[in-house]
Amino acid sequence: MMYQYRCACCDQIVSATEKSCPNCGSHTIRSPFGFWFFCIVACLLVAIAIMVGKLYFSPEQMTPSPQGVMQQVLQTGKSLLSH
Ligand SMILES: [Zn+2]
Repeated sequence: MMYQYRCACCDQIVSATEKSCPNCGSHTIRSPFGFWFFCIVACLLVAIAIMVGKLYFSPEQMTPSPQGVMQQVLQTGKSLLSH
């Protein structure tokens, strides 16, 4: 297992459920998710931001709003009247 909690003092492998090092009793447990966890969270945040941005800037992809329906009705009515 590559990702393991380790004691910051003696580098002893500590199980994720342990709150203190069984070797030296230190409470400083290093998380295995330091750098990679940050990368993954950053990627997820960017992906979510892009998705939200797409939804926000392209409302026609969402369910039509009452105003949009009214505009469509008016436009079809105008085109019918012009003929
Ligand atoms: Zn230790």
